[in-house]
Amino acid sequence: MTHFDALIIGYGPVGATAAGLLAQHGWRVGVVDRLPDLYPLPRAICFDGEISRIFQELGIAKHVHARSASSLGAEFVKATGERIEGFDIPPDTLGPSGWPDLCFFHQPTLERQLRDCAEATGKVTTYLSYEASEMTQTPAGVSIVATPVEGGEALTLTANYLLAADGAASPTRKHLGFAFDSLGYDRDWLVVDVLMTGAADLPKITQQICDPARRVTFVAGVGERRRWEFQLNEGETWDEMLNEAKQWDLLRPWVTPDISKIERSAVYQFHAATANHWQDKRIFLLGDAVHQTPPFLGQGMCAGMRDAANLIWKLDFVERGLASSKILETYQEERLPHALDLVDYAAEMGRMIDTLAEAQVTGDWPETLDAVYGGSRGFPHLHSGVLALGADDDSDGITGFPAPQALVNTEQGPVLLDDIIGANFAIVSAAPLPELSAAHQALLSFIGAKQIILPEAERASPSMDILLAFHQAVIIRPDRYIFGLVNATTSLEQQLDRLSIHFQS
Ligand SMILES: Cc1cc2nc3c(=O)[nH]c(=O)nc-3n(C[C@H](O)[C@H](O)[C@H](O)COP(=O)(O)OP(=O)(O)OC[C@H]3O[C@@H](n4cnc5c(N)ncnc54)[C@H](O)[C@@H]3O)c2cc1C
Repeated sequence: MTHFDALIIGYGPVGATAAGLLAQHGWRVGVVDRLPDLYPLPRAICFDGEISRIFQELGIAKHVHARSASSLGAEFVKATGERIEGFDIPPDTLGPSGWPDLCFFHQPTLERQLRDCAEATGKVTTYLSYEASEMTQTPAGVSIVATPVEGGEALTLTANYLLAADGAASPTRKHLGFAFDSLGYDRDWLVVDVLMTGAADLPKITQQICDPARRVTFVAGVGERRRWEFQLNEGETWDEMLNEAKQWDLLRPWVTPDISKIERSAVYQFHAATANHWQDKRIFLLGDAVHQTPPFLGQGMCAGMRDAANLIWKLDFVERGLASSKILETYQEERLPHALDLVDYAAEMGRMIDTLAEAQVTGDWPETLDAVYGGSRGFPHLHSGVLALGADDDSDGITGFPAPQALVNTEQGPVLLDDIIGANFAIVSAAPLPELSAAHQALLSFIGAKQIILPEAERASPSMDILLAFHQAVIIRPDRYIFGLVNATTSLEQQLDRLSIHFQS
C-alpha cells in the first residue's frame, strides 16, 4: 500500500496541471491514467490569458508561449465570407492578464510540457496504463485500486485527498452518483487538423462560417497547423465523415493535398452540461468530469485548469492549518456557477451559428448578437465564496474577476506582479495604507499575505493603472481572483474582517 498527500485520477491537461500545482506546494502526488501516453486526437487548440498565469505559476509560461501563437481575432461570417460580427487583435498585444488574451497551441505539446513540469519536481509518481477503481473514503483519507491495463497485480493507493480529473465519462462521478445537467446542445461535428506544406491564402483569424449548406469553424492554429470543424448534416454518419476522401471534399474550398496534409481527425458529439455536485468530502471532481462545453469559445480545458487553480490553493491552506476544511466547500460554490455560465455561453454561441446560417435563407435575423465573437455577453466571474461579496450582493464588476497583472520595475528589471506575490494573498495599493490593527496584522502574517505598494512610477505596464487610480487597494487571492476592493465606501478593516472568517488563527 502506497500513501500520497493527494491522488489524481486522469493525467489529461487538467490532471497534469493539478499535479504540477500540488507538487509545487510540496505535496507528494500519485497520478493514475489508463492510457499509456498522451491522448492523440484533436481537441483543445486555444487558451486564454488567465490560463497563461497558471502556466506562469508553474514556471513554464515562457516555454509554453514559445510553442504557441497569439490570436489575431475572431469573427462570425456569412457563407460569402462577409463579416457579421467580430473583432481583430493587433499582433503582439498583451491583455490585462499580462499575457496575450488568447493563444493557439498544440495540445499534445502542451500536455507534455505540463507533465514534464509536474514530474521534474520529483514529487509526482505516475501509474500509466493503470485503471483506477474502487474509490473509497474514510474521515481520514481516500483509497483507490489501480489495476494494470495489460494485466498484473493490482495496487492499493491511499491519500489524504482524491482529485478526479477523469474526463467526460468520469468513473468517479458515476461512482458517486452525481448527475450531469444538460443545457441541450448536442451536435455532431467532424474535426480535421491540417498541416500546411505549401502556401494558401487562408484567414488569419478564427471564423465561424454560418453557411446554410454546412456550418464550419476555421481556426488559424500555431505554426503550420490549421483546423476545420464541420457540423454533420442530417443523415451523415460518423464513419462517412472519417473517410479521408470525404474530408478532402470538405476541405477543397480552402486547401488541397498538394499544399497540405491531414494530420489527424475525429468526430465528436459536442455537449453542454455541468455536474450537480463537485465534491464528496475528500473527493473532488475537476475538468471534463464536471463540465462539458461545445468548443466554440475554446474554454473546456481552460475551465478545468481554473478548477485546479481554485481548488489547490484552498487544499494547501487546509493542509498547512491556515483554514478549516469548510473553505473546501467554496470550490463548488465558486466554480459551478462560473462553469455553468461559460457552458451556457458556448452553447448559445453554437445555436447562434445555426440561427445566422438559417437567417441567410429565411431573412429572419436575430434581434441581438450577444453571444457571437465581439458580442456583448460578458465572460463569467465568481459570485460568492472566498470573496468580499455574497451571492445576493450586486456585482461591482471587479470583485470576483481575475485581477489585472502589471509588469513591475525592480532592481533586477521588469517582473510580472504574480511572480512577486507568489501563491499568496496580496494587498496591492498605489500608496501606503493606514496602519492596521494588531488583529488584522496577525491575520495577514498568519496567512502569509503580501502587502505591495505599487506607485505608478514603478509600473512598467498600464494594466493596473485604472484599478489603482479609483481604489485605494485591491486584495488579490492566491489564484489571482479579486477578493475585494478598498475604497471610499469600503475600508481595509471591513474587508479584512470579511477575509478573516475564512481563516483560523
Ligand atoms: C474538438 C474540440 C476542441 C476543443 N477546443 C478547446 C479549446 O480550444 N480550448 C479549451 O480550453 N478546450 C477545448 N476543448 C476541450 C478540452 O479538450 C477538454 O476540456 C480537455 O481536454 C479535458 O481535459 P481533462 O483533463 O478534464 O480530461 P481528459 O483529457 O479527458 O483526461 C481524462 C483522463 O482520465 C483518464 N481516465 C478516465 N477514467 C480513468 C480510470 N478509471 N482510470 C485511469 N484513468 C482514467 C483518461 O484516460 C484520460 O487520460 C476542445 C474539445 C474538443 C473535443
